[in-house]
Amino acid sequence: MVLDKLGQSLNNALRKLARASTVDEALVREVVRDIQRALLTSDVNVRLVLDLTKKIEKRALEEKPPAGVSKKEHIIKIVYEELTSFLGKEAKPIEIKEKPTILLTVGIQGSGKTTSVAKLARYFQKHGYKVGLVCSDTWRPGAYFQLKQLVEPYGIEVFGDPEEKDAVKLAKEGVEYFKKKGVDVIIVDSAGRHKEEKGLIEEMKQISNAINPHEVILVIDGTIGQQAYNQALAFKEATPIGSIIVTKLDGSAKGGGALSAVVATGAPIKFIGVGEKIDDLEPFDPKRFVSRLLG
Ligand code: GDP
Repeated sequence: MVLDKLGQSLNNALRKLARASTVDEALVREVVRDIQRALLTSDVNVRLVLDLTKKIEKRALEEKPPAGVSKKEHIIKIVYEELTSFLGKEAKPIEIKEKPTILLTVGIQGSGKTTSVAKLARYFQKHGYKVGLVCSDTWRPGAYFQLKQLVEPYGIEVFGDPEEKDAVKLAKEGVEYFKKKGVDVIIVDSAGRHKEEKGLIEEMKQISNAINPHEVILVIDGTIGQQAYNQALAFKEATPIGSIIVTKLDGSAKGGGALSAVVATGAPIKFIGVGEKIDDLEPFDPKRFVSRLLG
């Protein structure tokens, strides 16, 4: 499963607590240190780990368990609650409040962005929405054909022009095209590479200003670890990030980087990619995720 090693380490920390005959301050500090170590070795951002574990430690040392609940049980509940609240309490889907709802996806090439756009389109289609895709990636002409190939079997249309060099123009025209067609959801896929990072970020800014999306979705490769923090920060500078899709969580990735991306952007993870096929997309459920992690 995802986060295997992180899950195991967190489990070991909690087992240490469960096995102890008495729970004193020294033990609480030791368990908190174990949790800290588990998160740090999974590439979760250092500052975040310290914030989180400080909160756990403070509550574990100060709170009195309610009647009938042992100190151990209460501390385990605190760890559970703090991890869940860190990831976002509720699983929040992307809402289609307005028609059309315009979504813009951003992310580095190789993150799984194109695949995720196709998966999202299919997800909305399965939920009864009519979807249009716009490919504004002018750096990789293959992106348009890749996207078309992925969604054509499902009758989902892709707007794009592999010859066009102006990404902002493409994005705008694509949105106008699908507005006229009366679709419910328009997903605009952007480039994941540029001559230099500054150019990519500037392009995101311009596209975002031009199409005014309801939500910008950052696609992050779940296997990249600590780099996720800076990558997410860079995109956040271009445009406010509304949600995150973490890809490739079907492998052995610990996924700690994904947690860092949440901190960097302040945006929740809404979906996880669990395979290369179009249906391999799952809504992210923080409670289930933490239960599985600690369970
Ligand atoms: P882009 O450059 O960001 O658009 O990335 P692509 O969508 O082309 O994906 C890069 C590679 O990652 C492709 O081989 C995809 O099949 C693969 N990929 C994307 N998402 C997932 C996922 O959730 N799990 C796995 N195992 N592979 C994925």
